[in-house]
Amino acid sequence: MSKNRGGPCGDDVKPAADTDMQASSDASGEWVSVYAVPKMDCPSEERMIRLALNGVEGIRALSFDLSNRRLKVVHDGEVEPVTSKLKTLGLGASLQETVAANPETIKAAEFSAASAKQESGTLRWLLGINALLFVVEMTAGLSHSHAKVRSTI
Ligand SMILES: [Zn+2]
Repeated sequence: MSKNRGGPCGDDVKPAADTDMQASSDASGEWVSVYAVPKMDCPSEERMIRLALNGVEGIRALSFDLSNRRLKVVHDGEVEPVTSKLKTLGLGASLQETVAANPETIKAAEFSAASAKQESGTLRWLLGINALLFVVEMTAGLSHSHAKVRSTI
């Protein structure tokens, strides 16, 4: 008679690694559209495009490839508003393809979006300094004219 230890709480506890999460497509409805933008050759065009697409709803991320003059847009829903917005910029943008976004694509694009956010943070900071200088100048100007007025009395 051999004792079979183990019982219902068996010793072969499988790690829950076989949870094949194929159904975790939260990203459904997300698309990556690739544009060829022949006249996008330097960061100023990139900035222009970022600004233009800022107001377009559904855009999740932008990924720029200046040397290949390509732009990837991660968006949900229709691509049409993105395309028409890009066309107004006169950079010759044309839609190459729209593919369903996979998590990797999104991650890559979000990464570049994050670094762009940093950049615009710096820009905002510089603008802030400009505004401050403007206020200082105005205040100085006002007190100057005020002194002038006083001296003419
Ligand atoms: Zn340029």
